[in-house]
Amino acid sequence: MLGLTRERFIFVPHLITMSSAYQRITVTSALPYANGPKHIGHLAGAYIPADVFVRYQRLKGADILFVCGSDEHGTAIPNQALKEQTTPRAIIDKYHAQIRDCFQQFGIAFDIYHRTSEPIHHQTSQEIFLSLYNKKLLTEETSEQYYDETTNTFLADRYIVGTCPKCNHPNAYGDQCEKCGSTLSPRELINPRSTLSGKPPVLRPTKHWYLPLQNHEPWLRDWILTSHESDWKTNVYGQCKSWIDAGLQPRAMTRDLDWGIKVPLPDAEGKVLYVWFDAPIGYISATRALFDELASGKHQFATPQRSFANAKSDDWKKWWQAPDTRLIHFIGKDNIVFHCIIFPIMLHATGEYIVPDNVPANEFVNLEGDKMSTSRGWSIEMHEYLEDFPGRADELRYALLTNLPETKDSEFTWKDFQAKNNNELVAILGNFVNRAVVLTQKNFEGKVPAAGPWQPQDLAVIEQLKALPGTIAQSIEAYRFREATAGLIDLARLGNKYLADTEPWKVIKTDPDRVGTILHLALQIAANLAIVAEPFLPFTAEKLKKLLGLSALPWDEAGSTTLLQAGQVLADAPLLFQKIEDDIITRQLDKLVAKKKAAELAAQPVTPLKSEIVFDDFAKMDIRVGKVLQAERVEKSKKLLKLRVDIGLEERTILSGIAEHYDPATLVGQQVVLIANLAPRKMMGMESQGMILMAEDKDGSLRLVQPNAVVAPGSTVN
Ligand SMILES: [Zn+2]
Repeated sequence: MLGLTRERFIFVPHLITMSSAYQRITVTSALPYANGPKHIGHLAGAYIPADVFVRYQRLKGADILFVCGSDEHGTAIPNQALKEQTTPRAIIDKYHAQIRDCFQQFGIAFDIYHRTSEPIHHQTSQEIFLSLYNKKLLTEETSEQYYDETTNTFLADRYIVGTCPKCNHPNAYGDQCEKCGSTLSPRELINPRSTLSGKPPVLRPTKHWYLPLQNHEPWLRDWILTSHESDWKTNVYGQCKSWIDAGLQPRAMTRDLDWGIKVPLPDAEGKVLYVWFDAPIGYISATRALFDELASGKHQFATPQRSFANAKSDDWKKWWQAPDTRLIHFIGKDNIVFHCIIFPIMLHATGEYIVPDNVPANEFVNLEGDKMSTSRGWSIEMHEYLEDFPGRADELRYALLTNLPETKDSEFTWKDFQAKNNNELVAILGNFVNRAVVLTQKNFEGKVPAAGPWQPQDLAVIEQLKALPGTIAQSIEAYRFREATAGLIDLARLGNKYLADTEPWKVIKTDPDRVGTILHLALQIAANLAIVAEPFLPFTAEKLKKLLGLSALPWDEAGSTTLLQAGQVLADAPLLFQKIEDDIITRQLDKLVAKKKAAELAAQPVTPLKSEIVFDDFAKMDIRVGKVLQAERVEKSKKLLKLRVDIGLEERTILSGIAEHYDPATLVGQQVVLIANLAPRKMMGMESQGMILMAEDKDGSLRLVQPNAVVAPGSTVN
C-alpha cells in the first residue's frame, strides 16, 4: 500500500495540545552572516524547514510572523573587508543583497528580511544591554587581552589566529577552530599572531561587561531540563544538558572593536557589543521595523491573505512579550548554545520577554563525502545553484527536504539530487498530473468530467486521500519535515497508482462514463496536491493552481473530493518537472573538484623569502637573454627538454625541466633568460650548459621569464 509504513507517522498528541494554548506564533530563522555567500547546507538547516512550517501555518490560518535578516557585525566582517580590499560597509551591502535575493528565489517567504546595521537594531540592542546593566545583571571585569602594538588595537575573536591546541591546525581563530570545530579562547592559541599585522600580540589589561550565565542555572534547569525534556529534539536537549552540566561561566558581552554597536555607557570608549549579544536581538528589531513599516503603510506582505491593516508601531511587543505568543527558533546545530542558553537568559533576565517554546535545530549536510565549506571550496553556494538551474528552486527544495539532517548529519550528492528529480518529481508527481490532464484534454475537451457513482476502488482511494493531509500536518507540527515530505509524495503516488490500476486509456474504448469518473477523482487528487504541495514546493503549487483554475485554498480543505467542479476548464498543461541528464550532473561534479582545487591554491602561502645577500653575490651571476633555436624531448624523461640556445657569443645546449609545461615546437624562436656562468651539470647522461629562469606558480606550473620586447641574443640582465 504505497509504502505508507505505520512507523513513519507517529502521532504526538501533546505537541498539538501545547500549541493550542497559543494565540500567535513568532518564527525566526538564524540570521546569516553577511561576510560571504551562503551554501545549500545553510538553506537546509534553518531556512527551508522554517519556511515549510510557516507556509503550512499560514494555510491553517494561524497568526504567524516569520522574521530574519543579515547579521552584519563581528570581527569576520572587517576581516573579509581586509581580504577583499574594501570597507566593512561594502562587504555587508554586497552580501546582504546577495543572500536576500537568493532566499527570495528559493521561495523562503519571510515577512521581513532586515539587517543588524539598521539604526533601530542598534537602538534595540542598546536598550536590552542597558536593561540588564540597570538591573545589575552584568558584571564588570578587567582582564589581560591580546593587543597589536603595530596597529594599536585589541584583537578580538577573529583578529587573532594561531595553532589550535586540540588539533594543531595552524590557522585556528581566537574564538573557534574551523578544522576541528572546537570553541576556543584567544589565550589557548599556540603561537598567536595578529591578522592585522601578522605579528605576535602582547597582553594588555582591558575592561569588559560579562553576563554571569551561572547565576541563571536554576532557572535554565527548570525551563529546559524539566519542561522540555519530552518535546525538544534529543540533539538539542542533549547539547543544552551537557553545557549546563559542565558548569556555566561568565561570558563577555562586549569587545574592543570599532565595527559594531557602541556600548551605551559613558566609560566604554572604543567598545562594542559582542556580535552574539546583538545578532539574536536582530529578530526583535526586525519585528519592530516591520510594525513601523506597517503602521506607516509602507509594508507589503508576501502573503496577501494575512491582514495587519490596523497595525501600530507598538504591536511588535505582542510578538515578543505576550505569554500567549509561541516563539520558535530554526537554526543549525552550531548555534544551539546561543539560542537555547545565552539569548534566553538575556531575554528572561530583562523580565519582559518570552523565551522559545522550541528550537528545532538541525545537524549539518555534508557534500559528496566531505564537510561542506565555502572557504575550502567544497560547497554549492545558493547563487551558484540558481545560476546553473534557473527556475528550478523547488527541485533543490525537494532534494534537501527528503534528506534533511534532522537527527544526524546527512549527505547531499548530485547523483541523489538527479535521482530525486527524475524518479520522484518527474516520474511520480509530474507524471501523475500530466497523465490526468492530458487524458482530460484528449477525451473531455479539457473540462473536468462529471463523476458517476463511486466504485469500491474509488472509495479506497478517497479514504486514503482524506487521511493523508492530517498525517502530513502531524509530521510538520512535530518538526519532522522529511516524513512530511514523504507524505506529500505519497499523495502523488496514490494518484499515480490509481491511474495505473484503473487504466482509463484502455477503458475509454468501452466505457467513457467510467473514465469520466476516474479522471474526475484523479483531478481532485491533483487539486489536493496544489494545497498540500504549497509548503514544500511553492512554485509547483502555484503552477498546479493555475493549471486547475484554483484560487488560494486553506489547508483544511485538503482531503476533499469537491475542490473542482465538473465543467471546470483546465489550462494548458505545463511540464511541472524536467528530467536531469547525466552530463549535467557530471559537469557539476567537475565544477566542484575544480573549485576545491582553486581554493586550495588560493590558501597556499607564498614561498617565504630567502636570507639576505650582498650586491657582490648578485654581481657574480652572468644573466643573459638567449634565443631558442631548437627544442626536443629527452628520451625516457617526462620532465626534461633539450634546447639549443643562441646566447650571442655562442650556441649552448641546455636541459630544462619544462616538458610538462611546454610543447617543444612552441619554444623555437622564443626568448629566454638564463644564467650563463653556472658550472655545467650532467643530467640523463647529457651536459647542460646553463640554466633557464622560470616563474613557478602556486600550483607548480612553470612559465618562461622573458623580456617584454625583443632584444638581441646575448643581452645582459642587470
Ligand atoms: Zn582544531
